[in-house]
Amino acid sequence: MPRSLPYADMDKMLSLSKRRGFIFQSSEIYGGLGSTYDYGPLGVELKRNVKEAWWRSVVRQRDDVVGLDSAILMHPKIWEASGHVENFSDPLVECRSCNRRFRSDQLETEKCPDCGGELTEPRRFNLMFHTFMGPVEDSSHEIFLRPETAQGIFVNFKNVLDSTRKKLPFGVAQIGKAFRNEITPGNFTFRTREFEQMEIEFFVKPGTDEEWLQKWVQARFDWYVSLGIRRDNLRLRRHEGDELAHYAKDTYDIEYRFPWGWGELEGIADRTDFDLGRHAEASGEDLTYFDEETKQRYLPYVIEPSGGVDRATLAFWLDSFDEEPDGDATRTVLHLHRLLAPVTVAVLPLSRNEKLTPTAKAVYDLLRKHLNTQYDDAQSIGRRYRRQDEIGTPYCVTVDFDSIDDHQVTVRDRDSMHQDRVAIADLVDMLQDKVEHGW
Ligand code: ATP
Repeated sequence: MPRSLPYADMDKMLSLSKRRGFIFQSSEIYGGLGSTYDYGPLGVELKRNVKEAWWRSVVRQRDDVVGLDSAILMHPKIWEASGHVENFSDPLVECRSCNRRFRSDQLETEKCPDCGGELTEPRRFNLMFHTFMGPVEDSSHEIFLRPETAQGIFVNFKNVLDSTRKKLPFGVAQIGKAFRNEITPGNFTFRTREFEQMEIEFFVKPGTDEEWLQKWVQARFDWYVSLGIRRDNLRLRRHEGDELAHYAKDTYDIEYRFPWGWGELEGIADRTDFDLGRHAEASGEDLTYFDEETKQRYLPYVIEPSGGVDRATLAFWLDSFDEEPDGDATRTVLHLHRLLAPVTVAVLPLSRNEKLTPTAKAVYDLLRKHLNTQYDDAQSIGRRYRRQDEIGTPYCVTVDFDSIDDHQVTVRDRDSMHQDRVAIADLVDMLQDKVEHGW
């Protein structure tokens, strides 16, 4: 359904988020902890669905990608070899008057944006969180919270290769938490210090990397569109030469038009053999691949599609928001894709009535075995539809007095508000079919 621009009003979304339980400020009863967030009962379902959709698309539905779940805590030498100890930093400046700190590359003026004071010269600030392993707190026990999931994949390259006997090209995918001590977090869950990533390292024969980069850029762009983000709100941006990371030969960012401007959802980089080369050198392990066709050994090149779970969730959620005229009133609706919506189907008895309840509960018990289902019998049916629209529930099943005798219920579609009468016996198949394939 075409929807009008511009997009979600952030104030309305924040109020909806808190009121309905999508995302809460973390540690709220203690005054909150800067830029950390907790996903509420609806938010956690939405985020799980985003991860599930990604995993299905890049692991389950492909023959050439396998999954991994590596530890957050890793050997500190990994971060030296990867270049993070040396290079994973942002330029930090401090105001000499109010002592606030900023990322100098994000400032538009040479003065403090808060008080107009003089700023110090920029110095490099490493973004990795560090802590100590075990009971002794000295530098020999210092370890890092991973700032990306990617390195867990590189250091398992040989394990995966040996255990799966995969041939190039093949990839390894992983979803997990990452931590960065960002100097200026902000814009809700867009930039936080604790977040989740979904990353793929796709290993290819050198020389085929440029072709694979293009394939992955297209596949990942299409994924966002296939799950409902309007194409007009997405763009691809290729990194300029001076913007490229030290390990990258070429990079594209998929950006979303957030209410505050364009922002990165995912970067797809050609990292060549940089990572495997560094880890081979630092660990002394042979990380080469034996190519049976050419009878040669070489280090594979890698294409890395690296996305953020929280940013993708935020973009799907914001993009789905709409306010539509509905008679004299306005209907607030999240047009979330049916695979992403936190609740898939709501069972709504026409009224709270002892005759209706047993049939309605039986329908609820039937559906909840297969689909994420909510039961709601409080207040008028109109208000209950609105409540479900507001959280993006794609289907509502209404049980009325005729249902008791004719064993049929009414299925209402969130977007078209079209209603169909369906036999209870056909309901599970019919709804599962809709969820998989749409109307
Ligand atoms: P940015 O330029 O916005 O700081 P980045 O280029 O450093 O991002 P990458 O290192 O490429 O980000 O990380 C891959 C993905 O992880 C990003 O595309 C983003 O979706 C997510 N991500 C990175 N940093 C954060 C953060 N602080 N909060 C939430 N998500 C993040």
